[in-house]
Amino acid sequence: MKEICMACLFCQIAEGTQSADIVYTDEHVIGFRDTNPQAPQHVLFIPRRHVSTINDFNKQDADLIGSLILAAQHYAKEQGFSEQGYRLVMNCNRMAGQTIYHVHLHLLAGRTMHWPPG
Ligand code: AMP
Ligand code: ZN
Repeated sequence: MKEICMACLFCQIAEGTQSADIVYTDEHVIGFRDTNPQAPQHVLFIPRRHVSTINDFNKQDADLIGSLILAAQHYAKEQGFSEQGYRLVMNCNRMAGQTIYHVHLHLLAGRTMHWPPG
């Protein structure tokens, strides 16, 4: 069953009713540039289906979760920075800094990253 939530900004992007700079699409995932980039390359990969937080994933979503990472990997290879390196981040809930409640995998690249993250 298709689950969408039209009050959700990222569902609107997935549905095409809200504009975004889309750089990747497949059957289950789309990737688009973050509007407030924290690195020279900052892309968000989201499931087309609405899932609010990591806490809402279940075992049946294992393939979908893998698809998010494979989408990011594909993009990194295609763009030619996979060997230099990149960071994938998924924030869950308030203390981690989640602000949009449709899960998204941040891909950050193009600069040296610091550890620990802030
Ligand atoms: P998070 O803080 O992990 O929930 O990340 C949400 C991200 O979404 C932030 O990095 C925002 O800059 C980004 N963002 C918010 N609105 C949009 C939008 N309309 N298009 C692309 N990225 C967005
Ligand atoms: Zn949504």
